[in-house]
Amino acid sequence: MLAPEHRISALDQLDSKGIMHYLHIADVAKTLEKQDEEMQMWRQTKSRNGKMVPFEDYPRYAEVDEYLEKIAADYSDIVTLVNAGSSYENRPIKYLKLSSQITLHKSKPIYFMDAMIHAREWVTTPVALYTIHRLVENLRDQDRDLLHDIDWIILPLVNPDGYEYSHTDFRLWRRTRSIGSALNSTCIGVDANRNFDVEFNTVGVGLPCSDTFPGSEPFSEPETAIIRDVMAEHDGRIQLYMNIHSHGNWILYGFGNRTLPSNAVHLHHVAASMGAAMDALKLPAAGFYKVGNSALILYQTSGSAQDYGQAVGIPFSYTLELPGYGWAFQVPPQFIEHINAETWEGIAVTARLARSYYRQRDNFLRGSSIATDVRS
Ligand SMILES: [Zn+2]
Repeated sequence: MLAPEHRISALDQLDSKGIMHYLHIADVAKTLEKQDEEMQMWRQTKSRNGKMVPFEDYPRYAEVDEYLEKIAADYSDIVTLVNAGSSYENRPIKYLKLSSQITLHKSKPIYFMDAMIHAREWVTTPVALYTIHRLVENLRDQDRDLLHDIDWIILPLVNPDGYEYSHTDFRLWRRTRSIGSALNSTCIGVDANRNFDVEFNTVGVGLPCSDTFPGSEPFSEPETAIIRDVMAEHDGRIQLYMNIHSHGNWILYGFGNRTLPSNAVHLHHVAASMGAAMDALKLPAAGFYKVGNSALILYQTSGSAQDYGQAVGIPFSYTLELPGYGWAFQVPPQFIEHINAETWEGIAVTARLARSYYRQRDNFLRGSSIATDVRS
């Protein structure tokens, strides 16, 4: 993005150096304003035609919170609401535990899903909320096994401060909203998805004011410490971790430094199955899902949630990048319903495969790629 007064000189520079370029959006501010207006109109029409549900919308923090509280109250036999701690700006970060028994049962694997670690990736929270909806409010006969055999931990708003800021002030905000890091007195927040204690601050990171600033130290952000603590609390039982982002149709796994986990073939198998299930329902405007090691097919990173999950022993740890349909982070709300439905199919596939691997975990040792019974 360029300020209008820099337009001519920047274009001259590109031309003089022979750098190919094209104009994607002529006026970003005007485009964002227009999208705001369209969203207001869409909300009005939708509420006129019936009840607005938070998973078919871009709900604010308070609306997400209200939904989680309501689900926990209405379905207290299977749902536990956990207040995991507070964000930098003191917003409670909550998640739901879903279990066919009120306490998590040790013989079952856990599926851990979170969304909105990056504030501007608005379409991720509806997907997490819709997953709750399909497992609780609208559990269908063909999906009863998913709740019966698997316990779920679903955290729909990892970075509520950044998310609220992206609604109130700056639509394309990505980072947290912490102030006063030793390295960073001028710019606010860090990239939470570079802030985990795995190869911290090595590759794919930026300066304090960049969108990939990893923070002054691992887990400097309360938001990432909460994810770390969920993983530690359920050590050995989380079979699959899905860190949901937007956009670009990617399913990625570790490690961000181009090395592969020892169970990479199985990581790939489960991810490819997920991609295939979602592609079978895809809209023409979406790309086909691309599946692979995040560093080899996208770019190198360090300190990511995906790598941390893998490193602490979760056998299947993924980054999911939902479709953008050419709108990047500003997916029009009309697409939410489709993304929810299509992603749910992918999630169900991964949950069932994770269950199979969990049942045979003595053969598929955590982190091991070769099962003893297939070594012939
Ligand atoms: Zn992201």
